[in-house]
Amino acid sequence: MKTTLILGGGIGGIVAANSLIKAAGPSMKVTLVDREENHHFASSFPLLMIGERKPPQMTREIKSLAKKGIEVLHTEINKLNLSEHSVTTDQGELDYDYLIIALGVEYHPEAVPGFSDIVLNAYDFNDIIKINQRLNNCPEGRIVLFISSLPYKCPPAPYEMIFLLDQFFRQQGLRHKIKLTLVTPDFSPEPLAPPKVGQSVRKMLAEKDIELITEAKVIAVEKNTLILDHGTKIPADLLLGIAPHWTPEVLRNSDLVDSSGYVEVDQHTLETGYPGVYAIGDATAIRLPVIGAFAPKAGVFAHAQAVIATKNILLLSQGLKPKYRYNGKGFCVMNTGFGRSRYSTVHYYKEPQPHITLLKPTRLAYLAKAAFEKYWFKRWF
Ligand SMILES: Cc1cc2nc3c(=O)[nH]c(=O)nc-3n(C[C@H](O)[C@H](O)[C@H](O)COP(=O)(O)OP(=O)(O)OC[C@H]3O[C@@H](n4cnc5c(N)ncnc54)[C@H](O)[C@@H]3O)c2cc1C
Repeated sequence: MKTTLILGGGIGGIVAANSLIKAAGPSMKVTLVDREENHHFASSFPLLMIGERKPPQMTREIKSLAKKGIEVLHTEINKLNLSEHSVTTDQGELDYDYLIIALGVEYHPEAVPGFSDIVLNAYDFNDIIKINQRLNNCPEGRIVLFISSLPYKCPPAPYEMIFLLDQFFRQQGLRHKIKLTLVTPDFSPEPLAPPKVGQSVRKMLAEKDIELITEAKVIAVEKNTLILDHGTKIPADLLLGIAPHWTPEVLRNSDLVDSSGYVEVDQHTLETGYPGVYAIGDATAIRLPVIGAFAPKAGVFAHAQAVIATKNILLLSQGLKPKYRYNGKGFCVMNTGFGRSRYSTVHYYKEPQPHITLLKPTRLAYLAKAAFEKYWFKRWF
């Protein structure tokens, strides 16, 4: 029997483990390794922030996947010994025939001086619970949400969060006492899309009286102040930030990463330089053709990549040539508040430019996003 080891039990790892065990049955041992006991569905984080979700609604124990025949190990992954087909963990060495790396990214607030002491990380599950408590005790003042650096995952999520903050304070009757500001290093919302897409997001922000500051490089945070590289100081009563993203140390210590720290893969087969070793999701260095910028990092892409990697591993295990190719297509739904969302399609391998569309806010798109959340847990857990 062959063994496939899947590193990381987040979106990519969960889809990969399920897909492989279903397709291969007893002919393959599938082991999923993650340091965390629980999976929190990040797409629901913005709703958690404003109290429209509670933690149990968006959390599942990863070990519950064992009922499907997946071996689940909770342990820290410390070292990849790729030439020996093994991985070192806190619980010892794990051997594999095939490997899928789905370790995502980690947050490094300490890379921005002052962040760890002053700012709540708007992408961190535990900090989001604290943000919700702070919002409920925030009768007035300025709230600044800032993106520390590029790339960051789910590019529409900060916009979704600020739209939901707008909704929250309007529903409380406090919006006239709250100033909302979003600070980004990008030159525009949706920077990879045609200008009219970014302009339509800018228009929505303006209509909701949300200030947008673009091309801003945050260098430090001091008490109630965000400091940008050209010396501009942005005062705030509540600072919410998206901490810098790095790949986990175990990857940065391997020879899989390029100079950006992300894992190099064939952008179609998702195989690394080591035969039988695949990498998917946020940890990959997948870039756009021609433009060369990082492809957007999102669960929908990790999901699609997991399906391709597992199909190719199945062929390899049958002595066949891998033939499945990832196409860079996906979709996204941005919640814009008050039960409406904007549906977006993405084809980021399209040349010479990625093809990105963003529809107007609709109730249908909002309901589709809510239905996807239900589907996610029913389908994979
Ligand atoms: C607020 C927010 C909203 C989002 N909304 C959406 C959305 O609407 N749609 C969408 O498509 N995407 C969304 N995303 C992005 C999406 O969550 C990620 O892109 C996706 O989770 C990436 O999947 P992944 O498998 O690559 O990594 P992850 O899901 O991050 O999983 C990585 C796993 O590896 C584990 N790990 C890492 N290092 C180690 C180690 N050394 N030892 C053991 N375990 C380790 C981690 O514990 C983690 O469980 C959102 C993200 C955020 C933060």
